[in-house]
Amino acid sequence: MSNFLPNELIKRLNEQEGFDSEAFNTIHEQGDKITSVRLNPLKQTTIPFENASPVPWCDTGYYLTHRPVFTLDPLYHAGCYYVQEASSMFIAHILKEIGLENSVTRALDLCAAPGGKSTLLTSYLGSESLLVSNEVIKSRANILTGNIVHWGVSNVVVTNNDPSTFKRLPGYFDLLLVDAPCSGSGMFRRDQETIDEWSLANVKLCSDRQKRILAESLSALATDGYLLYSTCSYSREENEDIVDWIQTTFSFESIRITFDSDWGIEETRSAEHQAFGYRFYPHKVKGEGFYIAVLRKKEDQSTFNKKKIKTEKNDAPLRVVADWTNQQADHVPFMHSGHIHIFPKRYEEELRWLQQVLYIKQAGTDMGKWTGTELLPSHDLACSIHIRSDLPAQEVTEDVARQFLRKRSLAREDFEAVNSGWCLVRYHGINLGWVKVLANRINNYYPKEVRIMNL
Ligand code: SAM
Repeated sequence: MSNFLPNELIKRLNEQEGFDSEAFNTIHEQGDKITSVRLNPLKQTTIPFENASPVPWCDTGYYLTHRPVFTLDPLYHAGCYYVQEASSMFIAHILKEIGLENSVTRALDLCAAPGGKSTLLTSYLGSESLLVSNEVIKSRANILTGNIVHWGVSNVVVTNNDPSTFKRLPGYFDLLLVDAPCSGSGMFRRDQETIDEWSLANVKLCSDRQKRILAESLSALATDGYLLYSTCSYSREENEDIVDWIQTTFSFESIRITFDSDWGIEETRSAEHQAFGYRFYPHKVKGEGFYIAVLRKKEDQSTFNKKKIKTEKNDAPLRVVADWTNQQADHVPFMHSGHIHIFPKRYEEELRWLQQVLYIKQAGTDMGKWTGTELLPSHDLACSIHIRSDLPAQEVTEDVARQFLRKRSLAREDFEAVNSGWCLVRYHGINLGWVKVLANRINNYYPKEVRIMNL
């Protein structure tokens, strides 16, 4: 395989002090595929795979011994874990190091789809924080919404905006993650196409785009706020040079992260400002290629006029919220397009500011459609960590769970626990979705857009 690695890339990597091109080539020749997952600590605290081993820098991350057919695992569909490349889980360690773990942080994940880093951010920032998870490409924003819904948390707002839109929220965020679109060389082992598409011209194009994305969004970060800038590229032009450009153009200080030297992560310094960065090479860590730098905003960032927005009449039926969820005290319900949603009370007013500026795809948890007399519960509610645990439910076998996830017909005798009405389908104690139990039939309400096809 190394014969196919682009010469220009290898030539440039060889210019870096201590770069071991032989080991780099060999690991690409071997072409091993590493599989890792990160648990959703609000749904799954033990790893449901045999012989899994921990990812050193992320206490919810695990390497698996083989790649299962995740599509056939009901727990995968229930948001119990996220299949994520191990190197990027280093963000969990960074959040601990900079003191943001379980904090009150307003975070923006600017380039968020499909949602790997957003789900990590919500797990580590904790329930008192707010995450705005944004993706500019509409189809990818839909995938992002699905993954956030499965994760089950209510303190996320999914948006579909161009980075420039965030100029209208100056100084609002305490944390900005820019996991930038890049030339993708770090994924060479996984994806042959990235090798075929790699060129110096594309590196240059990506580098220009990265600067543009940053230039348009950095004002959204508050003074003293943290910027995490990452790529899955090995090219200096997309990594250290971008960090140099940030420090030259704006007022940011570079933050050094400490970690165990056994982890094999390489600390680098940028050429001009000597900014710290962290490189993950597949011959040195058990993971794919990744670069991340942490910076802190020093300049005095002006902020927008946080005027009080008049509360709209909120006619969400509180009794219904209490009937279906365990969140009455620290959440507020609101109506949107005939659906009842719940959202953290702490950020209620801020959601109204966000609404005035952003195209919001999803805010909080959509409980379902309110007909005026009853709630037609949504799939999002079934996935929510805030759903009441004492609602009618039926624990099912793996076979029945898969039938349900394929949206096939289900046997009445597999739902003996419930006489009639809405019933949660549960597998290993985790909710998968809804059925409606009738006298002699089961209606399967699994959403057809996410049903298992062809397996
Ligand atoms: N953070 C994601 C995760 O962990 O799952 C992966 C993000 S991926 C590296 C980069 C994302 O940037 C893609 O979803 C892509 O659609 C988006 N993107 C592409 N062009 C963009 C642009 N001009 N501005 C902002 N985002 C862009």
